[in-house]
Amino acid sequence: MTQLEAAKKGVVTPEMLRVAVRENQTPEFIRDEVARGRLVIPANVRHLAGSGGAEIGAAWKENRIGELTAIANGMQRGSNLELGSENGESAQEDSRDQKNNGNGNGASHSQFPILNSQFNAPTGHPGHRPDAALWVNQTVTQRWSVINDPEYAKGDATPKRLDPMGIGRMISTKINANIGASPVSSGTHEEVEKLKWAQKYGADTLMDLSTGGNLDECRQAIIDNSTIPIGTVPIYSMIIGRSIEDLDYDTILNVVEHQAQQGVDYFTIHAGILKENLHLIKKRITGLVSRGGSLLAKWMLTHNKQNPMYELFDEISAIMRQYDVTYSLGDGVRPGCLRDAGDAAQIAELETLGELTQRAREAGVQVMVEGPGHVPMHEIAWNMQVQQRVCDDAPFYVLGPLVTDVFPGYDHITSCIGATEAARAGAAMLCYVTPKEHVGLPKAQDVKEGCIAYKIAAHAGDVARNIPGAIQWDDDMSRARAALNWPKQFEIAFDGETARALHDEDLDVDTDFCAMCGHDWCSMRISKEITDWASGKADGFVPESKAAKSPGLTEEQRILLAQRAAAEGLDVKPEDLTPEQIRTLAHKGAKLDCHSDVADADAAQQMQREYVQVGVKG
Ligand code: SF4
Repeated sequence: MTQLEAAKKGVVTPEMLRVAVRENQTPEFIRDEVARGRLVIPANVRHLAGSGGAEIGAAWKENRIGELTAIANGMQRGSNLELGSENGESAQEDSRDQKNNGNGNGASHSQFPILNSQFNAPTGHPGHRPDAALWVNQTVTQRWSVINDPEYAKGDATPKRLDPMGIGRMISTKINANIGASPVSSGTHEEVEKLKWAQKYGADTLMDLSTGGNLDECRQAIIDNSTIPIGTVPIYSMIIGRSIEDLDYDTILNVVEHQAQQGVDYFTIHAGILKENLHLIKKRITGLVSRGGSLLAKWMLTHNKQNPMYELFDEISAIMRQYDVTYSLGDGVRPGCLRDAGDAAQIAELETLGELTQRAREAGVQVMVEGPGHVPMHEIAWNMQVQQRVCDDAPFYVLGPLVTDVFPGYDHITSCIGATEAARAGAAMLCYVTPKEHVGLPKAQDVKEGCIAYKIAAHAGDVARNIPGAIQWDDDMSRARAALNWPKQFEIAFDGETARALHDEDLDVDTDFCAMCGHDWCSMRISKEITDWASGKADGFVPESKAAKSPGLTEEQRILLAQRAAAEGLDVKPEDLTPEQIRTLAHKGAKLDCHSDVADADAAQQMQREYVQVGVKG
């Protein structure tokens, strides 16, 4: 039984419980969204178990039932729980209720002790309040420590197994990172490293788009080391060793089944590009820019037959249902430039994807839908609305979109702008774009830059959509900033290690100002002084006519700087340090070798990469 089938029966599965905890929602809310088809939980049963591509072991199943029973026993009566299993059998427990505290965010962490200990992962930024415990707010440091915890999400036969997550526009926006070896670059080890980088920098799902190297080995290694859902485009494997013209129906079904058995959580299937609509492509500037779409178009024209993915859709659905693989209905006709956006070819494919959404749901398979691509800014919201209507609110998974075509080398930025608008307007997941888009194969550093750009887009979208708890992260940061509390700022910041490194380039002591404006011009410090001055409002309080001046440094910091002055032969008491002396003495003096003032850009980047590379420093 799939998550969708369970939800339609009113059953709350352990995966729904886990998603509820991570999203700070009630389990019933998650179940209802899954049943409605507006939320998917991509969770292949083999990846859930961490079976390494083999059948799920009896011990794991038994252990799971024990966990389920414990969860059920920890809850109030009234709700149904289900253990999903590979062959569709279920171990339904007594009806148990989930507590709802009445504010729409009833699930608290303490309600699910088994699930939490199972995954041992934080569900919020450092110092979060219970009502702001969105797991997507985890910082890079939190993520890295969890990834490197050998006990976190340990699989039955693998280093890691899936930690279930949800994708839907009623919960926090997710981001996907694409990686994959190409025939000319990279290999299995590098791709697993990229997976870690992607997870560290915020990827919620990852697509293995490998087209070179040992595809099977690489895919299995990625799944076995991943706690986030893994997606693939099976047609890439179908044409290894043969030309697209030689692709036959048996190969399609065999490859789909093989990858489902490996534990892939969602498949991009380009079933929406139809033979009768291919003539619409002629009017475009860039034609077909989807690899899957262009390959299938070639097959259709060669054989003068309908798209085999469309013809085999029901058979593919039956295989996917068996392992609870989720559809990501591919946009093989997505526009590849602004001028092609929203044309007849794109809309014709979307209509077909709407039909396929219903067919997949009827087969019990969860569905999300992929979208463009390249879209002018003012047309993005319209795209979101049309998809929601045509595809009956299936989660929309968009690639960017890029809002301009003339900045190659910076397409993580051009697309991040579009992704932010898409998230605001209801996209459920944003597929990242790296600086290498259109020009080369992303390396680990490109993965980081793409992920961070998209975390910004997703979070900005969550704030704009008023996702409960989202803006509280910003509030916490703003309070730390107003208090000039540097350690707290870097602890809360998504990528605090980068922010700290930038701060320390100029001042390696945490003063009551930073190098941007300096002591006398620091508006935050002046504002703090004013606030302190105006704060004592007891009866009879008479404000002084002049604001107290901030000391700028603590006593310990002044002593440290006076010691530095003495080392340079300057005799000055800690209390007598002038702002200029503080600025000079707080600076490290010699800048690090990787500082851009010292090294050229390439050398600096190389040194910085070596400093933060995976496995060396988190
Ligand atoms: S010196 Fe300027 S940038 Fe730095 S904290 Fe003060 S106001 Fe902000």
